[in-house]
Amino acid sequence: MTQSPFTPTTVRQYPKIDLHCHLEGSLSLVALREMAQVTATPLPTNDDRLQQLLTTTATDPTTTDYLKRFRPIIDLMQTTEQLQIAGFDIVRSAAADGLIYMETRSTPTLYTQGGLTLEQAIEALLSGLHAGTKTFGIPVNAIVCGRRERSLAEISTVFKTAAKFADRGVVGLDLVGDEFDYPTVDLADAIRAAHATGLPIALHAGETAPVDNIVVAMTLNVARIGHGQRLNGFPAAMDRAKRTKTTLETCLTSSHHSTTLPDYPNLPLQDFLAAGLKVTVNTNHRTIANVNLTDEILALHTHHHLDWPQLRQLTLNAIDGAFLPDIDKANLRSQIPENQ
Ligand SMILES: [Zn+2]
Repeated sequence: MTQSPFTPTTVRQYPKIDLHCHLEGSLSLVALREMAQVTATPLPTNDDRLQQLLTTTATDPTTTDYLKRFRPIIDLMQTTEQLQIAGFDIVRSAAADGLIYMETRSTPTLYTQGGLTLEQAIEALLSGLHAGTKTFGIPVNAIVCGRRERSLAEISTVFKTAAKFADRGVVGLDLVGDEFDYPTVDLADAIRAAHATGLPIALHAGETAPVDNIVVAMTLNVARIGHGQRLNGFPAAMDRAKRTKTTLETCLTSSHHSTTLPDYPNLPLQDFLAAGLKVTVNTNHRTIANVNLTDEILALHTHHHLDWPQLRQLTLNAIDGAFLPDIDKANLRSQIPENQ
């Protein structure tokens, strides 16, 4: 049977899932302008100039250069109204990209510099997500992130506060930040604190630092690995990931920009698929990397020969790994076509 061509239209229309999308890196220019109005914060009036200020490229020489792109965005995420706009906006982006489900990562300790409490920040974000789902019909849940470089006391507080919203849209936990200087092995107590809340964990590991971070995460029963491309080439670790059905949340362009993937062909997507791993594709940072999932899949088709049956497999893997009840997963599976 002839397959449909991979075009922006056919890929956009395919029912896709994004499990790894940081809110702070993924707000649209329209939303940022609206958020800037709330606090009368000046932004460049020209959209190209604003996009340029926020977008990374593979030539950003250091991680610091990369991270400075977030500063103007974080400054606009300090009031209830701004966080509601942000939550609404990410659902609008999910809908425009043809997603049927998204989990957005959010780091609420970044939103408290204007006086909001963690609880108020999470509440505001969730109210934006719920309003967005009501308008656009796409379910979007939140994964709340602690920061690796902060104290265990702070991380535990973030996780416990997040868990209060477990029945209102917070579905998982994560730790973000420098995984090289703050490796998984040093975060074992923080991961235990996450397990103690009863929420599942999707932990950044093996993006910028070696495979060790992934292996330790798996031994600590982490259900999903954020990025995880460094698993490639380590057969025993790959076997373990296969046996434990660990979800790998790979990201293409943003990993290329953060120089963790020097070239597009280095994403081990085909190796992971051939090994039967639960690999998925995600955006990471929609605005900072200037991508959406449709673009990423088109790029994977061009650079990695991704075909429709493989896209279906990636999507089913994402459903298996999603932090959702079985009934919601069954509903998502029913939307994935047998053939394309
Ligand atoms: Zn990430």
